[in-house]
Amino acid sequence: MKRRLALGAIVLTGGVAMTVAAQQRAQVIDSVKVADNYYVLTSSTPGNNDTFSGGNVGVFVTNAGVVLVDTKLAAWGDTFLNRVRSISNKPVTMIINTHTHADHTGNNDKFGTNVEFVVHQNTKANMAKMDAFKGDKAAFLPKRTFSDRLTLGRGAEQIDLYYFGRGHTDGDAFVVFPSLRVMQTGDLFAWKDGPRIDRPNGGSGVQYPQTLAKAVAALKNIDTVVPGHSPLMKMADVQEYQRYTAELLKTAQDAKAAGRSVDDAASAAIAMTQKYRGYASERVKASVQDIYDELNAVATANR
Ligand SMILES: [Zn+2]
Repeated sequence: MKRRLALGAIVLTGGVAMTVAAQQRAQVIDSVKVADNYYVLTSSTPGNNDTFSGGNVGVFVTNAGVVLVDTKLAAWGDTFLNRVRSISNKPVTMIINTHTHADHTGNNDKFGTNVEFVVHQNTKANMAKMDAFKGDKAAFLPKRTFSDRLTLGRGAEQIDLYYFGRGHTDGDAFVVFPSLRVMQTGDLFAWKDGPRIDRPNGGSGVQYPQTLAKAVAALKNIDTVVPGHSPLMKMADVQEYQRYTAELLKTAQDAKAAGRSVDDAASAAIAMTQKYRGYASERVKASVQDIYDELNAVATANR
């Protein structure tokens, strides 16, 4: 519980800092056109952290209205709304969130209560714990949830939601647009770096590689992958990330079994990361720490 409070304080501080920074500079959200009826509003402009507006957002224009996958940070609300309207002046009719985090759900409340909100059932439970969805804002909690798989719409407008297990959180949805051969991964595949493992929201570094392996085995016919926070990629990049998270886990497990410190394990994991082309290692130590904490928690529970 203490840990959860501490994490909340850090997130809050980060949010305030980001709000101030955002007010000082003009907000710009870039977009990438993937198809006539599907755009990605990017997480940030590569190389410019001041433009971090939250996760990548999918904007899918259907006959009935606009479907959004994720909604960025609340502090970017006006810019985000205008950006969505610049793509289509149809109403937003559905919002799918890949997971609970505030940089993916921050503007769920900006499009009215007639929007249909859809998330994994565990993400709904995680959202209900957030201040952003308490009191009056509880009206914006999703009413439609799924456990393993859910198909929305049909034909060219079909959207398939999948859940393969714990990883970044315990409610990470993969969102597939079969007619476009496009998939959004949320933060289960956010970047080419150590994964963020949000244990208070059910994340698991031990389950992470298995979850990705199930996704890679099940998901076919995808040409374009939209990661949580990186430029567009391919399915081969998801397959590589699965291998990377498996090797990261094994490196941490082996180091821990040998009685080595988190620092030593992180050094080994950073050295291992260098084998993967184009990977950063800024987040590797935090990933290793989370895996150690998880293994310790399991050991304590089994004692
Ligand atoms: Zn996240």
